Amino acid sequence: CGIVGYIGPRQAQEVLISGLAKLEYRGYDSAGIAVCHDGQIDVKKKAGKLANLSTLLEGQPLPGTLGIGHTRWATHGLPNDTNAHPHATEDGRIVIIHNGIIENYLTLKEGLMSRGHEFKSETDSEVLAHLIEEAYSGNLEEAVRVALSQVRGAYGIVVTHVDHREIVAARTVSPLVMGVGEGEMFLASDVPALLAYTRNMVFLHDGDMVVLSDDGFKVMDLAGTPQQRQIEHIEWDA
Ligand code: GLU
Repeated sequence: CGIVGYIGPRQAQEVLISGLAKLEYRGYDSAGIAVCHDGQIDVKKKAGKLANLSTLLEGQPLPGTLGIGHTRWATHGLPNDTNAHPHATEDGRIVIIHNGIIENYLTLKEGLMSRGHEFKSETDSEVLAHLIEEAYSGNLEEAVRVALSQVRGAYGIVVTHVDHREIVAARTVSPLVMGVGEGEMFLASDVPALLAYTRNMVFLHDGDMVVLSDDGFKVMDLAGTPQQRQIEHIEWDA
């Protein structure tokens, strides 16, 4: 349902929680964030309102300056803590968030399980984490591309890997917008999540994939061909 991503000098948790709060009007049943630091990715997620997640984080904030956050509107699997996003691989090295529906997830899941993957959730989304893990051999962008070539359906997907200081995202049908800061980059499913931080935005087109780093971004199509996207200045207020 709602997506926020951040890479830059700030503590990611604050950006993620405040951004997700701006998307609450869309309705959701659970919320979660993942933050990278010191060669690990910490995930905290909770069914119910964003306030439940915030309470959980009050005691133990997640340090780190690269993170992704989600508010879930369940389509596959009950709205509980386990099915909430983000979803991680078994080794915790790859973490994903997904908006939308993966139509062929059951077939993909059966294949992955027959090749030894163990699933934690009942979601359609979790197949994405495992497909990326299977395709990964050092290049995250390439692994996401290979994974998405197997998928049918609608998605806004956001991916992080412990070994890469970058966020990889892609969209088909589900919307994604990038916020371009100075020495920092933002990502969201909708503009209001980012207005407190930047008004310089790039609206991703259907079929776009993007790699965000601290000092910029590159957009390509799902085949890897570079795409030019304009930065637009948003004048209106949410
Ligand atoms: N289909 C996914 C799920 O049920 C994502 C739902 C959403 O867009 O929030 O977990």
